[in-house]
Amino acid sequence: MERTDCLVVGGGIIGLAVARALATTGREVIVLEAADAVGTQTTSRSSEFIHAGIYYSEDSLKARLCVRGRELLTRYCDERGVSWNRPGKLIVATDDAQIDRLEALFRHGIANGVDDLRRIGGDELHELEPEVRGVAALLSPSTGIVDVDGMVRALRRDLESMGGAVALRSRVIGGRIESGGVTVDTAEGGSASAHMLVNCAGLGASRVASSLDGFDGPIPPRHLAKGNYFGLSGARAPFEHLVYPVPVDGGLGVHSTMDLAGAARFGPDVEWLDDEPAADLDDKDLDYSVDDARLTGFEDSIRRYWPGLPSGTLTPAYAGIRPKTSGPGEPAADFVIHGPAMHGVAGLVNLFGIESPGITSCLAIAEHVVGLMGS
Ligand SMILES: Cc1cc2nc3c(=O)[nH]c(=O)nc-3n(C[C@H](O)[C@H](O)[C@H](O)COP(=O)(O)OP(=O)(O)OC[C@H]3O[C@@H](n4cnc5c(N)ncnc54)[C@H](O)[C@@H]3O)c2cc1C
Repeated sequence: MERTDCLVVGGGIIGLAVARALATTGREVIVLEAADAVGTQTTSRSSEFIHAGIYYSEDSLKARLCVRGRELLTRYCDERGVSWNRPGKLIVATDDAQIDRLEALFRHGIANGVDDLRRIGGDELHELEPEVRGVAALLSPSTGIVDVDGMVRALRRDLESMGGAVALRSRVIGGRIESGGVTVDTAEGGSASAHMLVNCAGLGASRVASSLDGFDGPIPPRHLAKGNYFGLSGARAPFEHLVYPVPVDGGLGVHSTMDLAGAARFGPDVEWLDDEPAADLDDKDLDYSVDDARLTGFEDSIRRYWPGLPSGTLTPAYAGIRPKTSGPGEPAADFVIHGPAMHGVAGLVNLFGIESPGITSCLAIAEHVVGLMGS
C-alpha cells in the first residue's frame, strides 16, 4: 500500500486548519472524516466568538494559542473574504460579591496579553448598555464574531488548492503503529497509511487514540459537557456588545450572543452528561436536543443582568457538546496536545479536550502541531 505523508483524522475546524498548515509545508495530506460533510460536529455548534484570551491560566496553551490565534484568524478572514466583526464584550458583575472575580479575570487577561481590557464602573456600564444591570464590568473591545462556516470552507479550499484531499464517510475504527508510520482502517472497509497521523477527532479523539495498536501513550479522561442555547424570538436584544455574566463551573455563563446578521440568542449553559469518563460513548448516542425544562434556569440567569427580558420570548435553539478532560468541580483543564516528545511515537500527534476557545485558536493550534512534527 502506498504511503501518503500525513493523515489527519477529523474534518472539523481543527483538522482542516492542521491539514492546511501541513500542506503549506509541502506535505501530501489526506483528511479522514467520518461524516458526509466537513465541520458538522462541534464546529457547527459554537457561539462563533473570537475570544480575546481573558479566562485561561497564565502560560496555558489555551491562553497562548487563543491570543496568537485571534490575530491569525482575523488576518486570515481578511485575506480570504470570511466575514467577522468586533462588537466587543462586557463581563458584568451583578453584585459586589462578584467584583473580586472580575478583578481576577482582569489580572488573567492582562497577564495573557489582552492589553485592551478595561475595568468600568456601574455608570459607564449603564451608558454603554442602558438595559444591563450591574455594579461593574470588564470591557473587552477585541472580542468578535466570525462566520465559522465561511472559515471551514476557506480552510478546505486552501487545502485542496495545495493538492490535499478530504475523504468523507471515512470513520477510523482502528489502526497500528508501524516502523516509519501508521496504518488506519475505516468502518467503510478502507485503510490508509502515512508517515504521520494527527488525531483531531474532537469528541472521538480518545477513542481513535485507544484504537491504535502499538500506542501506549497517555490518553486523558473524556468528560462531556453539553451547552444549550435558546433563541430570542419576537424581540430584539437591546445590546450593542456581547454581554456575559462572570463565569460558572465548566463554562462562561449564559451570555448573550448574536450572529453576524444580528439575531440574538443566549447560552451556552453547562449540562454535564456524565460523572465518569465516557471514552466509549458512541457519537450516535449523543443527544443534541434542547430540553424545554431548562427555560426557567435560562430566564433566571439572564434576568440577573437583563431584568427586562420579556416573558415568553425564549425558544430552544441548538446545543453543542464540549469535549473536556476535567470533570464537574475540577479546575478547568488546558488543551491537551501530545506530540512525539510526549508519547515517543514518531509522526503522531493527538489532540484532546479541544473545547472553547478552539475556533479562535484553530490556526495557532495548527502552527503548534506543525512545530511538534518537526521538519
Ligand atoms: C457550546 C459550545 C460553544 C463554543 N463556542 C466557542 C466560541 O464561541 N469560540 C471558540 O473559539 N470556540 C468555541 N467552542 C469550541 C469550538 O467549537 C471547538 O473547540 C472546535 O469546534 C473543535 O473543533 P474540532 O475540529 O476539534 O472538533 P469537531 O468539529 O467536533 O470535529 C471533529 C471531527 O472529527 C470527526 N470524527 C470523530 N471521530 C472520527 C473518527 N473515528 N474517524 C474520522 N472522523 C472522526 C467528527 O465527525 C468531526 O467532524 C465552543 C464549543 C461548544 C461545545
